[in-house]
Amino acid sequence: MIETIYVEEAIQNHPRTKFILKKFKKSRIISIYKYGEIFNKKNQNFRIQKANPCLILAHKKDNFVLPAPEGFGIGSSKNFYFSHMYNCIYDCRYCFLQGMYSSANYVIFVNFEDFDIAIKKTIKKNINSKLTFFSGYDCDSLALESVTGFAKHILSIFRIYPQIEIEFRTKSIQKEPFLSMKPMQNVILAYSLMPELISNSLDNKAPSISKRIRVISELASKGWRIGLRFDPLIHSKNWKELYKELLEYVYNNISLNCLHSVSFGSLRFPKRMFKNIFKLYPNELLFTSPLSLNNKMISYDIEIEEEMTSYCKNLSLKYINEDQIFKCSI
Ligand code: SF4
Repeated sequence: MIETIYVEEAIQNHPRTKFILKKFKKSRIISIYKYGEIFNKKNQNFRIQKANPCLILAHKKDNFVLPAPEGFGIGSSKNFYFSHMYNCIYDCRYCFLQGMYSSANYVIFVNFEDFDIAIKKTIKKNINSKLTFFSGYDCDSLALESVTGFAKHILSIFRIYPQIEIEFRTKSIQKEPFLSMKPMQNVILAYSLMPELISNSLDNKAPSISKRIRVISELASKGWRIGLRFDPLIHSKNWKELYKELLEYVYNNISLNCLHSVSFGSLRFPKRMFKNIFKLYPNELLFTSPLSLNNKMISYDIEIEEEMTSYCKNLSLKYINEDQIFKCSI
């Protein structure tokens, strides 16, 4: 339940604002000038706000499409991302957003049409390159789909460009708009996964791994292309056993023909973000495990990272081809 919704004056009469507000009939609506008045101010505390976040409806002015950071990709020569939302309804303990923002309030930008224009411009500029766009770098791309309808909206753009890929990365079990549409071969529904036992203690408020795998299996059986993102890989005493069980279970329960790609990424945080996150959860076991500074990132030792990645990769090679496997290194 969202108790308070802040709405920027400029978009009060926007049809999408009205569409979203209709879903929150009992919420208190407060008019504001700019979302920055409420979001990410210095004296806010992410952890306290996360207990009862507000929703902010806003108009995005610029930076609709940005180049994805180096090391983020699934085989295209150029990668871009866009975020129609800041923050997430889930509360994963390792989430970088809690180190990036001081506010846990959700911001939804309602001017989707400006994303369309920016995406089309980016495609035109890079017409000779293989492109992938990633939806929802600053949020979970599908978790609030029933409220925003963003995925449904943006798919209409990618239908015009079947050679351009778009990935929706998510932990949600949101099946619409996909179940009621004809599958699009340039769309990748990418699911973040980790062993259930570990997920139960780290992926707070997110759907369980078994529920996610059931949805993956259903969407794959309808012909949608699936990405599996084992990112972050989490180390524990019996990690080999846990990851073997998970990988074998997933590969045996989805149609492998629909598998677009699999990627592995280790647990890592930019130094400044780690400092902020650690302040929020100083007693969290995950952050007191042996992490150190490697290449400006706080992460496991390189040997641990490499051992985990190659173990999972070798297991995966029994089911998929090497060119379907990627390493996420940002
Ligand atoms: S689902 Fe992703 S964006 Fe949402 S809290 Fe978890 S890690 Fe963060």
